[in-house]
Amino acid sequence: MHSSMIGKVEKAMRYAHEPDRVKLEAIRARFAGDNGTHTVTLDADTWHCDCHLYESAGGCSHTLAVQKMLDPMLTEAARETPLYGHAEMRDEEAVPV
Ligand SMILES: [Zn+2]
Repeated sequence: MHSSMIGKVEKAMRYAHEPDRVKLEAIRARFAGDNGTHTVTLDADTWHCDCHLYESAGGCSHTLAVQKMLDPMLTEAARETPLYGHAEMRDEEAVPV
């Protein structure tokens, strides 16, 4: 491999351990919940899920779980959850999902 490419790969390996460098602007995911499969999306810092709880509460275990998985790569606004305010702050109070 060309020496300049080796430098790029080494940089990529370092970046790969620094997920806060990346902020997701949009995602679409299939979530395999205990009671069925749901589609979870993020667009312009707004979450959506096709489950019933999301419709009534504006947040659900599916969106919250994805928020926790992707936390370092979310903007401040995308970390918010109506379930209890801020997804990253209260791990110990979170209901197991
Ligand atoms: Zn849901």
